[in-house]
This record gives sequence, structure tokens and C-alpha cells, in this order.
Amino acid sequence: MDGCRHFERCSAPLCPVDELIRHRVWYAGEAVCKNPFYTRLGWIGKQRTIGRKQLKYWLNRPIGLTELAEASQPRQMTFLDLEIKNQSN
Ligand SMILES: [Zn+2]
Repeated sequence: MDGCRHFERCSAPLCPVDELIRHRVWYAGEAVCKNPFYTRLGWIGKQRTIGRKQLKYWLNRPIGLTELAEASQPRQMTFLDLEIKNQSN
């Protein structure tokens, strides 16, 4: 467990350093991880967009990591890209 300095007090249901993140869900309006290290992740950007735009499609239902990642901009960094980048450092 490393990388997210915010983890102990991070209230985001989907936090990148949470080992069980793939089993968790997020609802529009809930907290988004603010760790600057992960801010470029496409799916976190998607969470921020959803929170801002409040599109009906995303509201009032559980949203998982996979759906967020698939809906995010392809040019943005994916969770996997970041994991690979971390390993090469
Ligand atoms: Zn976090």
C-alpha cells in the first residue's frame, strides 16, 4: 500500500490505492479521490465530469470502475497505464 498520501482520510468510494477498488461502486455526487498523483486518470476525470454535468444517465445508480474507465476519454491515462508507469520508476 503506497502512493496515495490521502488514503487514510480519503472519503472517495473509489480510491486508486484501494486494493478492492474493482469490487466497489460510486454514486454521482459522492467524493472523488483528490490525490494529485492520480488526478490524470481517465476514470477520475470522468467522475468529476459526471459530478459537474449531472447527466441523468449516471444518476441514482451504482457505477463501477470498469464502466467509468470505458466511458472516459481514450487519450487520458488509464489505470493500467499508470500501474505500468509506476513499475518502471
Ligand atoms: Zn484517495
